[in-house]
Amino acid sequence: MPLMDPQVCSCCRIPALPPGMNRRQFFRFSSGSAVALAFHSARAQAQSTAKPYAAMLLSCVDPRTQRPVAQWMDSAIAQSHTESLSGRYSAFTIAGAAVGVIAPRFRAWRETFWENFSASVELHRISNLIVVDHANCGALGLAYGPEVLHNPKLELEAHMVDVTELKRELAIRHPRSSFQAWYLARDEMGRFVEWKCLIPGSVIG
Ligand SMILES: [Zn+2]
Repeated sequence: MPLMDPQVCSCCRIPALPPGMNRRQFFRFSSGSAVALAFHSARAQAQSTAKPYAAMLLSCVDPRTQRPVAQWMDSAIAQSHTESLSGRYSAFTIAGAAVGVIAPRFRAWRETFWENFSASVELHRISNLIVVDHANCGALGLAYGPEVLHNPKLELEAHMVDVTELKRELAIRHPRSSFQAWYLARDEMGRFVEWKCLIPGSVIG
């Protein structure tokens, strides 16, 4: 004969009323528990099917670039990410993006960035750094002189030097992390719509 749970009524197999609880309180308690159980079950299922956090975005504080960068992150982009990264990336926004981390003028900001990246690696298990520098960046002018902003070739080269150095530092500090760098430029109407890959990395799925 199977042993019965002492808390379960042997005739109808429903739990016996806990001491001090009447039938109405019991059903209210049971109903609440069922709702809570369903809620936790749904949440656990959502968590098990959700994609993991993927990356940190390093971008500039320039107000003109906020919307285009957010829209770009929220879209599938060849050479970068196969679907929207909305909700799957942390963000570090600093004047100059890569320039803000690498240029000697902003030396005091450097460790703050790396400490934040390390924290996101630890907290969110990210394994990618996506860098977006942009054209006509005032921080580049502050770092290397305003004349560089009037020479598109020098301007792009200056960004290229800094993203290359940033990739080199990442490889030392976080050798298991992947790196990709992009450049957001303006069209003839002055709109930030032209994207150029400066340094390709692993495509994020
Ligand atoms: Zn900028």
